[in-house]
Amino acid sequence: MSTSAQSQNPIAVPLIDLQAQRRRIGGEIDNAIQRVLDHGRYIMGPEVGELEESMSVFTGARNVISCSSGTDALLMALMAKGIGKGDAVFMPAFTFTATAEVVAVLGGTPVFVDVLEDTFNIDPISLEKAIPFAIESSLRPTAIICVDLFGQPADYQRITRIARTHDLFMIADAAQSFGGKLNGKRVGTFGEVTTTSFFPAKPFGCYGDGGAVLTDDDELAERLRSIRAHGKGNDKYDIVRIGVNGRLDTLQAAILLTKLAIFEDELGARQACAGIYHDRLSGIAQTPTLIKGASSAWAQYTIILKNRDVVRKRLGKAGISTAIYYPRPMSSQTAYRNFPVAPGGVPVAERLCRSVLSLPMHPYLEREVQEYVCEEVINSVSAVDLEN
Ligand SMILES: *Cc1c(COP(=O)(O)O)cnc(C)c1O
Repeated sequence: MSTSAQSQNPIAVPLIDLQAQRRRIGGEIDNAIQRVLDHGRYIMGPEVGELEESMSVFTGARNVISCSSGTDALLMALMAKGIGKGDAVFMPAFTFTATAEVVAVLGGTPVFVDVLEDTFNIDPISLEKAIPFAIESSLRPTAIICVDLFGQPADYQRITRIARTHDLFMIADAAQSFGGKLNGKRVGTFGEVTTTSFFPAKPFGCYGDGGAVLTDDDELAERLRSIRAHGKGNDKYDIVRIGVNGRLDTLQAAILLTKLAIFEDELGARQACAGIYHDRLSGIAQTPTLIKGASSAWAQYTIILKNRDVVRKRLGKAGISTAIYYPRPMSSQTAYRNFPVAPGGVPVAERLCRSVLSLPMHPYLEREVQEYVCEEVINSVSAVDLEN
């Protein structure tokens, strides 16, 4: 069986389309780049401070410290809290490698916690079991890294309560959720520290690597600024702590400033796409659920399917790009297999790794193209169901 679209040369539908955004604001971005080339202040030029100020206004976070990547944002946040040997840092097993990597790099111990099937975010019950388990394993429970997977803020009300009870420092890894909201507040103020990424494919991406740390804590912000610049004190050659080279390029700041002007509009377009997916696909696959009061930045639109791999292959033949975020829980990755896992394991994360599929999602996805994607998903799922 083949649909008419399959028998013709199928149209190619990419997962994300960065060129579509360039068609809209490419000229303005090129001008912003040219301005940096003209003033030549490539390191910590004026655009860096302007971006930090604008992101502070956008999110409501008092301090924004831009940096070299989302990974370095996490690293710097942990360094600012002195996290290292003997410290247990709790995090979901269903996340991107960077979340765990930074803890291990500093000699700390990532402790993997299960996630919730409907929101993909950290499971508070699994977290509560992991804390006494870490203590029994002679670790010091120190911090939680909450990940806002695929764009939806984690359940910060519940997680914050647990964090306070156990005196845990809370980091929100908002690499995928920048622009999202919870109870009317923007992502950026939920953790004691929030980190984000400007990797090109993220909702708020630049033309290379970049990231930021956001915090309301002025003292922590000052430490972060020092860590970003090799641990400098008041004077550049007075080194008061161990730091890194963690700066964001002026060129990237200029690009991001231009993009911030249309970001809200893009978030609306992502929201509209998510709405169409939800309407068309809810009956045929498990579509994402939002917690009460949450609005997602829709970094990904991820559905859960029984016969994921077969469906994915059929979509590929129809020219539709999809992705599997993530094929393996962190706790089963070769390099991380020996780190502790919450009692009871991470069965939900394991199940999700076998059944999730991320569909094309970006603010410039045209309506007809999206209808084609939906139709092909529905056809593929029905065809596979018939075969089984
Ligand atoms: C992308 C991502 C990061 C890392 O960001 P980079 O800018 O690529 O270093 C960290 N955490 C999560 C959840 C991510 O999706």
